[in-house]
Amino acid sequence: MDIRIGNGFDVHALSASLPMWLGGIQIPSETGFVAHSDGDVAIHALCDALLGALALGDIGHLFPDSSDELKGVDSKILLAKVMELVREKGWKVGNVDITIALQSPKLAPHIESMRRCLAPILGVGIDSVSVKATTTERLGFVGRGEGCAVWATALVER
Ligand code: MG
Repeated sequence: MDIRIGNGFDVHALSASLPMWLGGIQIPSETGFVAHSDGDVAIHALCDALLGALALGDIGHLFPDSSDELKGVDSKILLAKVMELVREKGWKVGNVDITIALQSPKLAPHIESMRRCLAPILGVGIDSVSVKATTTERLGFVGRGEGCAVWATALVER
């Protein structure tokens, strides 16, 4: 079996009175992500991990933030488009692992829903989709509640 691995990283700023979309679902929160799309920073990092595994460039190249068509777009649509590319090249997802650094709100109650949301888009079972959350102990821009950082790893196989 042929396997490839990729990593992705993304950051979005937090702002009051915006919806918080993360891992494909809406999280109850006083703040949300500033973005051209729906701001789902977890899906963006995941897209970059998948693209990285196959050396297909990055999400900014594929879906430019200058595009009117993509304004406010549901990031699940972007992930589905990335998966089309993965499948076109003859690959499928083995597993993915996502680490979300966010000070608040607490994500633990929402992790399962994120995994359930992402698994069918990736074409894998929920046990192949890991989502982990951490704070940064109030340190840095994440700790000050200014933004969210996400790291993702994706393994693909054929
Ligand atoms: Mg992004």
